[in-house]
Amino acid sequence: MGGYLLNTMNYHISQRAASLAPSLTLAISAKAKQLKAEGQDVIGFGAGEPDFDTPQHIKDAAIRALNEGFTKYTPASGIPELKDAVVEKFQRDNGLTYKASQIIVSCGGKHSCYNIMMAICDQGDEVIIPAPFWLSYPEMVKLAGGKPVILDTTDATQFKVTPEQLRAAISDRTRIFILNSPSNPTGTIYSPAEIKALGDVCVEKGVMILSDEIYEHLIYGNAKHQTVASFSSEHQAHTIITHGLAKAWSMTGWRLGFIAAPEPIAKRINAIQSHSTSNPTSFAQKGGVEALRGSQHHLKEWLPEFDRRRTYAYERLTAMPGVTCVKAQGAFYLFPNISGTGMQSTEFCDQLLERSQVAAVPGIAFGSDDYIRISYATSMANIQKGMDRMDAFVRSLHS
Ligand SMILES: *Cc1c(COP(=O)(O)O)cnc(C)c1O
Repeated sequence: MGGYLLNTMNYHISQRAASLAPSLTLAISAKAKQLKAEGQDVIGFGAGEPDFDTPQHIKDAAIRALNEGFTKYTPASGIPELKDAVVEKFQRDNGLTYKASQIIVSCGGKHSCYNIMMAICDQGDEVIIPAPFWLSYPEMVKLAGGKPVILDTTDATQFKVTPEQLRAAISDRTRIFILNSPSNPTGTIYSPAEIKALGDVCVEKGVMILSDEIYEHLIYGNAKHQTVASFSSEHQAHTIITHGLAKAWSMTGWRLGFIAAPEPIAKRINAIQSHSTSNPTSFAQKGGVEALRGSQHHLKEWLPEFDRRRTYAYERLTAMPGVTCVKAQGAFYLFPNISGTGMQSTEFCDQLLERSQVAAVPGIAFGSDDYIRISYATSMANIQKGMDRMDAFVRSLHS
């Protein structure tokens, strides 16, 4: 009843919505799920979230809050207790001083980034995004009426943009430069000196830096994270840090992110949030307080495990003919170059899934078609099996 009309009527769709590219990562995981449901033994390297459970003490804090009736609206920008915990986090981990009025808690790190675009971009304003990029950045910029300006990088520079490259891309319409270190999808971490040099250019040119630091704590080997905001008060004044609990506390489903911004920007984001989502879920915020203030012991177990998987996957990938890989030191991704197989990323991933039942995300989703993204947020047994299959698949292309 009515179904025919619903499917054929010509609905008006805003240009804003029509211009959005649907998420390719979600399409891949849908296809992998479908194959699994059909009884196929699919190995998934597509995950954008840790395979570990949220630590119990964090769950307990949220359950306690729920049982105590902490189930009503909170201030739109988050409860004071959580903002204070975020202020403490920046002081403790980054040596940065913020006031609670500079902190906005949002419904995930993605929401934080979106709010920033909405607060800063006017029609036609430019946002500089290094590629490979987290696939939501350009779409968010477009939603806000802005224009994404993509800076291409390759594995030859470990996917890092240079200060010269950044400087050349800045115009008088440039409002924001997006820096995501450690990076999704490449795992790349910029050194403190490299970060400072990029920050210097932005300070000089009056461009705001959106520094997405959600993978701050997922770092291996001798790499070091230093936030661009930490180099001087000028750098801090030009930086909006976005962060969240999804990755290092394995709380993707809780939807909790936060920003630290100059106060005038934080105020506008508060206004935007007060008319769109209102507050992040009340009892989830209590879990967030526990995540930031409670034991961080879980990372002592997770980091060595991620590191073991990273090294193993790296060694397997680099032994495959036609595949090269940077041994990235952060997040839980590797971004191997598969162009030596003669295929582009979409065809490679389609065939890998169909012929070998291994799901990976084509690099084209992140703006770089010579690569695929391998997430090692899955068990060692899965990684071994998936790498065996991928190795056989790649070798079959060469025989
Ligand atoms: C996962 C992720 C986020 C935020 O995810 P949420 O689930 O919205 O908190 C932000 N930036 C990058 C680069 C990510 O990979």
